[in-house]
Parts: sequence; structure tokens; C-alpha cells
Amino acid sequence: MKKLLTVAISVVVIAVIAVFGQQANVTTKEYTRQETMVPQPQTSKIKVIASFYPLYEFTKNIARDKADVSVFTPVGVEPHDWEPSTQDLVALENSDVFVYNGMESYVGKIINQYPSVLFVEASQGINLGANSDPHIWLDPVLAKDQVMMIKDSLIKVDPNNAQYYEDNANAYSEQLDELDNTIRAELTNCKKDTIVPFHDAFSYFGSRYGIKIHALSGIIPESEPTAADLKNLIDFVKQNQVKVIFAEELVDPKLAQALADEAGVQIMTLSPLEGLSKDEMSSGKSYLNKMHDNLNNIKVALECT
Ligand SMILES: [Zn+2]
Repeated sequence: MKKLLTVAISVVVIAVIAVFGQQANVTTKEYTRQETMVPQPQTSKIKVIASFYPLYEFTKNIARDKADVSVFTPVGVEPHDWEPSTQDLVALENSDVFVYNGMESYVGKIINQYPSVLFVEASQGINLGANSDPHIWLDPVLAKDQVMMIKDSLIKVDPNNAQYYEDNANAYSEQLDELDNTIRAELTNCKKDTIVPFHDAFSYFGSRYGIKIHALSGIIPESEPTAADLKNLIDFVKQNQVKVIFAEELVDPKLAQALADEAGVQIMTLSPLEGLSKDEMSSGKSYLNKMHDNLNNIKVALECT
């Protein structure tokens, strides 16, 4: 009898636990569901403007869905001598961070006008010696430093997502390492050692991978070569049996084409990655894609196997 009672009590206890347990579960679930239905306090994303394409691409890869990232220089426009209009500057008023490279002459004029915006020079702290060449992003190893600099600035204004930015920056850095390894491997067996890019954007890339650079124009693509420069260039191309003269996607290829015709060589594209065309932007081209395209074209020019 006593045993039977114990069993009965046990059954009741178990039943009670089961019912209450279930209720507890139900309550928890409903509570959770209610929680998510209550409008959250507006945790608005930080707003970041990157001055031109590669910085935009790096920033996007770090920020992903935690920040609204936009590019300041309009798509399809070469950024070297671009200046923002008064209308363009309106976007800065609501921004948290402005990422720039250091070659944007307008930054000096606006940096003090927007005290609530964190201006971040992505090239800061990169040891370039006496070199004032701004084309740091074209060397994947130096680009990693820019990525880390951008990451630090996002963490500064949005510390709640620090780990997220940290992880994304590390993942993107690994992709840059892979790119670096690929370039090294693909350029090991080449017959030639000199390329003729359109403007002088590839000196960091060249010194990283042991390629000599003989550019058609100066540090900015708009610098007009003189007639003597052009004659020297054609002589150089002929003497060194250069097979390819490179044009750029954002600059009229007329000059490069005329020189290639004159020298009797091929014309190809070598992108300084200073901006994508509208078509490239909408087709989802990336910095990494474009660097691989560049590598393939350089391999043709250097006759690599
Ligand atoms: Zn340039």
C-alpha cells in the first residue's frame, strides 16, 4: 500500500512538473516572441563615406551589414583631380566616418568643417619612406595595412561591433595574402621584366613583385606627356621589345592607342583600381577580380608561362 502511494505521488509530481515545465516553456517562448515584436530602440547603423573605389571596397568588406558605406567620387569618374560639389558635401553632414587615401587634395579644405566626422587617412602609419606616391592599394601587402587602419576607425566609432569588424578585417586580409601568393607564383617564369602602364600608378606593385615600370604619363593620369616624352617612350618600347602598352578604363584610350599603333604593339587594359565603370559596378566586379584581371594581362605583357 505504501509502495502504491509512493508511486501515485511520484506520478502526480512528474505530471505537475511536466505541466508546469511546459507552461514555463510556453511562457518563455511567448515572452521571447513579444520581445522581438516590441520595436527596438533605433540602433541605427553608422554611416561611412569612402573617398574612392578601393577604400570603399575595403571598408565594405570590413563593415558588411553593420554600416552604411558609400563612395564619394561618383562611379566611373577618375578620382585624381575630382573635387566634390557643394551638393556632394551635404552627405558628409550625416556621416560618422570619412575614409580617404591621402591624395585627395580637397580633404584639407573640408576636414575642419565637419567636426563630428572622424576623418581617417588609410595610408597613415604606412612607411613609404620619402615616397609621395599615393597608389598604395595596388600592392596587396600594403593594402592590408589600409584595411587594418579602416577597421580601427570603425571600432572607434562603433565599439559594440568591434569583434565583428575584427573578424571581417582578418578574413579580408587573408584574401589579400592569397592574392599576393598568387601574383608571386604566376610571375615566376617571365621572359620580360618591364611593363608600360598608362599612368605611373604601379611603383609599389612593381617593387613588390620585381617588375620595372615605365609609365606613359605621370603620377596622375591627366599629366600631359610632351612630344619628346612620347618619342622617348616609343624608342623605349622598340629598344626593349615591349609587346604591350596599357590603357586604363577611366581614361580615354586614344593616346595609348596612338602610341601602340606607332610602336606596332598591342594595347591592353591595366587597371589602377581608381574606380569601376558603371557596368563593372553593376556586374559585381571587385578589387580581387580586377587584380586577377591585371595579373592575367601583365602575364601577357611579360610573356610569363
Ligand atoms: Zn593614380
